[in-house]
Amino acid sequence: MIRYIFITGGVVSSLGKGIASAAMGALLQARGYKVRLRKLDPYLNVDPGTMSPRQHGEVFVTDDGAETDLDLGHYERFTGVSARQSDNITTGRIYQSIIEKERRGDFLGATIQVIPHVTDAIKEFVLSDPGEGVDFVLCEIGGTVGDIEGLPFFEAIRQLGQELGPERACFIHLTLLPYIPAAGEMKTKPTQHSVKELRSIGIQPQILLCRCDRPIPETEKGKIASFCNVRPSSVIEARDVGHIYDVPAAYHAEGLDTEVLWHFRMSDAPKPDLTRWNEIARTIHNPDGEVCIGLVGKYTDVPDAYKSVSEALVHGGLANKVRVKVRMIDSEQFDDEHHPLDILEGVHGVLLPGGFGERGAHGKMRAARFARERNIPCFGICYGMQLSVIEAARHMAGFEKASTTEFGATDEPVVGLIEEWTKGNEKIQRDENTDKGGTMRLGAYPALLKKGSKIAEIYGTTEISERHRHRYEVNRGYVDAMEKAGVSFAGMSPDGLLPETIELKDHPWFIGVQFHPELKSRPFEPHPLFASFIEAAKVQSRLV
Ligand code: GLN
Repeated sequence: MIRYIFITGGVVSSLGKGIASAAMGALLQARGYKVRLRKLDPYLNVDPGTMSPRQHGEVFVTDDGAETDLDLGHYERFTGVSARQSDNITTGRIYQSIIEKERRGDFLGATIQVIPHVTDAIKEFVLSDPGEGVDFVLCEIGGTVGDIEGLPFFEAIRQLGQELGPERACFIHLTLLPYIPAAGEMKTKPTQHSVKELRSIGIQPQILLCRCDRPIPETEKGKIASFCNVRPSSVIEARDVGHIYDVPAAYHAEGLDTEVLWHFRMSDAPKPDLTRWNEIARTIHNPDGEVCIGLVGKYTDVPDAYKSVSEALVHGGLANKVRVKVRMIDSEQFDDEHHPLDILEGVHGVLLPGGFGERGAHGKMRAARFARERNIPCFGICYGMQLSVIEAARHMAGFEKASTTEFGATDEPVVGLIEEWTKGNEKIQRDENTDKGGTMRLGAYPALLKKGSKIAEIYGTTEISERHRHRYEVNRGYVDAMEKAGVSFAGMSPDGLLPETIELKDHPWFIGVQFHPELKSRPFEPHPLFASFIEAAKVQSRLV
């Protein structure tokens, strides 16, 4: 029997609903249950693929090529369960499919309405096959209760609560208990209002997860329980913790999973084994040292834009028992040739993340050159690899005009769309009216690594599969000349056509990858490339 847990949010956004859901999943998993996490996003975009990282943080890509919400990254990292296309849905996607059906005449003349057509589509998504042997499906509803666009989602889960019954459905509401210094009090009113709002649309939450920055007095817990109609033990204190990986153990200590299981009358549930979480916490809070990585990107003022990269760096640190301090460095400032690079002085590694467009790209190339010439470990991811290749083509292989067609027409398309690799300069005749969604190489693709290469040694294998999200490719035609200049194309697509990885021959650690390894890194399985990069940074910092 599959049970469903719905996680909603109230009072304000950014309370960490994604992490709370992921932690809840991890706790059930620690008790031996199989979980699947899903995200319902009420916005109108068909997927977040076209959204600016400034608006919505990074786009998380799944093995099966879906561009999804970054919360799916948290789910994967906390539970180790790979997310799929079928784990994220938006209002836009639902309307798109309903309207397509309507145009085809599939509704046989019926009037199409939010209830039941949209709500039925949402229910179908929630109930769709979660995979073999899954015990719990956790569904997080994006946004905050009271948002207009969220209403069909709340109505759908209300209906599901009714249809599945309390033995198969549980509602958890995440709220905020602000502390007002002038009054010296923690305030419960916003929580009361938020729950009132939920109840007015027919949803009675069973568990309240209350974000706060200090302990909740018992009297206040009692008040919340009474006004919000939940049992006192179901008012769970979700106090701020030092690190996100402390969350599962902290929520367990407050009884979150126990309350969920009590709700489902699962009194014979096994005790959770939190050993691995405790070990991670121990390493995070007692590192043997610290390394500093300079992350040179365009969205350095939006921490969520590089979420998976930052997390993968933490994991690389875990593998080496060091804390990784990330210095966020705006690449745009370096676009100006005269802007000094001194902020890169003293970093133990340079990370060039993925990105799009010309702004900030020249700056990334300058950072790549700095790391190359100074023998500082450098890790180029996707755009970071493409730009490292262009930099090397210009300054090592003598292709002064080397460029990417992403910047516009060029005589030396070292990076371009495959059909542009061999054509002249008239090639960039792109139709600006095309659908901007899904025009990229997306999802998992295999690559073959040369035996004896540094990257094959790091992976411990010559056959890998990694996730992609890009339109442009490094031009196969330049590979031979670049190899002669000292750039080794150690990884290629199995057909030998697409360069997948590069490494510099005369450099302690300079690797570029066309894919996004950060998407597959997990605290319990740090990605080998991140583990190796941090190890090299450790050497650079003379910690070893
Ligand atoms: N802009 C580059 C491309 O589309 C790289 C994309 C990325 O870094 N994800 O190929």
